[in-house]
Amino acid sequence: MRLSRLFAKSSKTAPSDAETANAKYLIQGGFVDQEMAGVYTWLPLGLRVLRNVEQIVREEMDALGAMEIMMPSLQPKEYWETTNRWEGVDILFKLNSQTGKEYALGCTHEEVVTPLAKKFTMSYKDLPFATYQINTKFRDELRAKSGVLRGREFRMKDMYSFHTNQEDLTAFYNRALDAYVKAFERCGLKVKVVQASGGIFTQNVSHEFQALTDAGEDILIACPNCSFGQNSEIATLKVGEACPKCGGTLAQMKGVEVGNIFDLGTKYTDAFQMDFTNDEGEKKRVLMGCYGIGTTRLVGAIVETHHDDRGIIWPKSVAPAKVHLISFNSKDETTQSRIKSTAQEFYDAFTKEGIEVVWDDREVSPGEKMGNADLLGIPLRILISEKSLKEESVEWKLRSSSEAKLVKLEDVMEDVQAFVKE
Ligand code: ATP
Ligand code: MG
Repeated sequence: MRLSRLFAKSSKTAPSDAETANAKYLIQGGFVDQEMAGVYTWLPLGLRVLRNVEQIVREEMDALGAMEIMMPSLQPKEYWETTNRWEGVDILFKLNSQTGKEYALGCTHEEVVTPLAKKFTMSYKDLPFATYQINTKFRDELRAKSGVLRGREFRMKDMYSFHTNQEDLTAFYNRALDAYVKAFERCGLKVKVVQASGGIFTQNVSHEFQALTDAGEDILIACPNCSFGQNSEIATLKVGEACPKCGGTLAQMKGVEVGNIFDLGTKYTDAFQMDFTNDEGEKKRVLMGCYGIGTTRLVGAIVETHHDDRGIIWPKSVAPAKVHLISFNSKDETTQSRIKSTAQEFYDAFTKEGIEVVWDDREVSPGEKMGNADLLGIPLRILISEKSLKEESVEWKLRSSSEAKLVKLEDVMEDVQAFVKE
């Protein structure tokens, strides 16, 4: 990607009303554009990050054996009446059709997936299975704030599992819990695993995954040493008490919920009368679990936990590109053409090797290019200038470090390949 061609440009100034780092840097950097409160366009750079995050989540769900599908956002009112949630869920967007029919705009998909799964489930031989989607959700949030952390339209990975018995459900639930921690770690996030009450969705066992940040709205009593935490709303332990997992001293922390998993029991299978025939020919109720990760919120949480006062510092696994190539401009024509052709050669070589690269080939000042590189937060910056070429080198600097070094032109390709792999 060449910055001179990028239509969605970063801006020199931060949005004046941004209260959180993710709102400030994602908008200023040209990763997202706010259409209205809680509703965003994902621009080319932002979409790359979102895709990387969603691919990590997808791989971890696939590893559980779950099968990806895509369900409709337009949902019939009757399904929501079947579960008694048409009236009860305040964040549900409702639509009137010119035909007189009413629809819900999906804020979650139990009402779609349960009747769907019922169509394909006859006997114990059809169970267990898990299916998931990564899709857009709509919620009529009273206050959409904190950038992409709380949207009215946002992306979520939601998985649903179906079982013949509690042991099987619990075993899958525990595997899903581990897969969640792994997915967040791969995105560069350490989370607290918080046992929670189920809210509107269930009375059964549930866990929240909380990324620690002051931009979050949840107050936790959590362990600084391990993943243990409790939501302060339900906490049985107090600040200063010993962590039941590792003995560390519990402290108060703020977090944002990036994921949530539920043992739903028969809540939805009761409503839709989803049964299976067991090996003795008897009809039994199916048990169900559901598992959500807010993928757009996850991008926001990564920014909240990976930035400094100049911009974002993306973890390599989710960054919009691995390399930020900068070519300085020179007034001397020969030097200018050497800088340009060297940069072009690296740009082509990286692209050919499948190494994602953003090239700042704009006609702007060195200071602006350096500032923009810090704002965009791509992990490795490679700078080609008159000064570096005098040494037959490029200047090599990691976004996460303040030190730059020179790397000989002939060594750059190999070093970049090693950096991408490490
Ligand atoms: P919250 O308590 O923050 O409102 P929730 O508990 O209502 O979230 P769930 O129904 O558990 O959310 O949805 C699963 C996941 O979807 C959440 O863990 C979160 O990561 C994400 N999510 C929920 N609401 C939003 C939203 N308004 N904007 C962005 N992501 C959201
Ligand atoms: Mg939740």
